[in-house]
Amino acid sequence: MPNVVVAGAAGRMGRILIQALEASSTLALSGAVERADSEFVGVDAGELSGIARKSLAVSDSLSAVLADADVLMDFTVADATDHNVAACEAMGCALVLGTTGLSSAAQRRIVLAAHEIPIVQAPNFSIGVNLCFELLDTAARILGDDVDVEISEVHHRHKVDAPSGTAIAMGEVVARALGRDLAQSAIYGREGVTGERERSTIGFHSIRAGDIVGEHTVMFAAEGERVEITHRAGSRMTFARGAIRAAEWITSQPPGLYGMREVLGVTR
Ligand code: NAD
Repeated sequence: MPNVVVAGAAGRMGRILIQALEASSTLALSGAVERADSEFVGVDAGELSGIARKSLAVSDSLSAVLADADVLMDFTVADATDHNVAACEAMGCALVLGTTGLSSAAQRRIVLAAHEIPIVQAPNFSIGVNLCFELLDTAARILGDDVDVEISEVHHRHKVDAPSGTAIAMGEVVARALGRDLAQSAIYGREGVTGERERSTIGFHSIRAGDIVGEHTVMFAAEGERVEITHRAGSRMTFARGAIRAAEWITSQPPGLYGMREVLGVTR
């Protein structure tokens, strides 16, 4: 059975990933890692995530736990991914990468590392969100340039990046389908005397409040009608289940940079 290490083990996602791995009959949790100054280093990973004791202490040494690992699941912070990607490359370990808010330099290093190891990177591992990406592509192609596109997202107050990686990915799907460059089309919030809306723009709006797991809506608004495609995550287990599917899939893949489309076998 492939061995999986969870980086960011004490985080909101890390704890759920440990629960999901405990319930998995196809993958084994072999290591849990936290940043060196985390109060959770040395704590039992099972107790940390509210399941039975696993006699597996949270480590602060990624290289030590990667020694017998097949897959690393990285749901940490953008600053940590460079180090984590390099460690996977050095150890020949596959990577399931969920951390968002990465710089373009970090993204370039991921592309390079994928020449050596298989990496599944997704801004959102939920199966429902990945279905929404397909629906958005269809909607944008059918509705074309006759609609205004606005993307709104709502997340818990602890989220550190905005707009969410998922909102940006939704924007990219729509922009690609409409033949637009998102970097040129994106508008982030509006304030003051903005003038009339330009049809070619794609608006992004982020709300941060309370403990909301994650909600995304893409609105296509025309004269006389409006189509909205919405996804609401009620539990982080939806992301963990998708990450488990990605980890199961990646163990038999050659080096390369993959997304959930490949994991789910979407061929269109
Ligand atoms: P969090 O802040 O609760 O957890 C992050 C954890 O990473 C913390 O425990 C922190 O101590 C740890 N960490 C920081 N540096 C580290 C290092 N160098 N080595 C090991 N651990 C380190 O955040 P979260 O809500 O769990 O989200 C984590 C990331 O995953 C964010 O970027 C978030 O946007 C992303 N996310 C992605 C998906 C997806 O489906 N792709 C879903 C949810 C969250």
